[in-house]
Amino acid sequence: MKILLANPRGFCAGVNMAIQCVEEAIKIVGTPLYVYHEIVHNRHVVDHFIKLGVEFVDGIEDVPANSTVIFSAHGVSPAVRNAAKARGCTMIDATCPLVTKVHMEAIRYARQGYHILLVGHAGHDEVVGTVGEAPGAITIVESPEDVEKLPYTDKDRMVYLTQTTLSMDDANVIISAILKRYPHVKAPPSEDICYATTNRQRAVRELADTADLVLVVGSKNSSNSVRLTEISQNSGTRAYLVDDRTEIDHKWFAGVKTVLVTAGASAPEHLVEEIVEDLKSNYGGTVEETHVVEEDVHFELPLSLRVLRDGKPVKARV
Ligand code: SF4
Repeated sequence: MKILLANPRGFCAGVNMAIQCVEEAIKIVGTPLYVYHEIVHNRHVVDHFIKLGVEFVDGIEDVPANSTVIFSAHGVSPAVRNAAKARGCTMIDATCPLVTKVHMEAIRYARQGYHILLVGHAGHDEVVGTVGEAPGAITIVESPEDVEKLPYTDKDRMVYLTQTTLSMDDANVIISAILKRYPHVKAPPSEDICYATTNRQRAVRELADTADLVLVVGSKNSSNSVRLTEISQNSGTRAYLVDDRTEIDHKWFAGVKTVLVTAGASAPEHLVEEIVEDLKSNYGGTVEETHVVEEDVHFELPLSLRVLRDGKPVKARV
């Protein structure tokens, strides 16, 4: 069997930075250390940190007063930052800078009197955080049907923004519906769907039809991993999303000559390597790495962590 490895795959710059934040914070303040929401949407990453004494919480009320709390890569609303401040917490903000960019756009457009149509998935941590920046000025749009139901007219001052990890195809369908109904709607100054999402989707789109089966390594709550699975299925190649090798069902491989393996932006590479080893030992064959896009993106650790590391602890910043 031929095993094709999609490239780019796996960790993006934002996930690398967020994970490094937790590793550094453990060294600086020790444990228990609190992280608001899963630091990245991957079960293995979260389990690894739980074993080291990190506590993941879904509410700031679960963080003891005066302790250190890290905000996940998906970002948080000002209400969460205020709640942490009120508890005297030291905050480390591991929000991906590309999510922060969308927050800043939301704040700026809301101040300018725009109503913001946020194309994204209601309830996703990132979308909840972005909406929290301008709660009265944002409507979440999940489908073209949602666009039909909007109460606004083309005379209203409107702009659309998008969640960073959407399928480009799905987002384009919704954006087309927005543009059709509101020809004067303003577009964001630059693409909100991030480089990592775009590149991983492009690799799957280009390679899926050269394979009989696609395996996407990632967790079920990882938006960009789910999108990779959907893109492959939409292009006509069966695809399965697996957290690790134990979730593989070998019945899937009947008649398969070529399998494409990729990974969502939050999935560690060692899980891909274990799957490839399993496939090689079960089916033999060759491994081929296919580079579709080269990536060279790196994010600095956030200021809140660097200040803490350099011996000048800061209290929560709002
Ligand atoms: S997927 Fe994109 S937005 Fe999300 S953490 Fe990675 S680089 Fe940032």
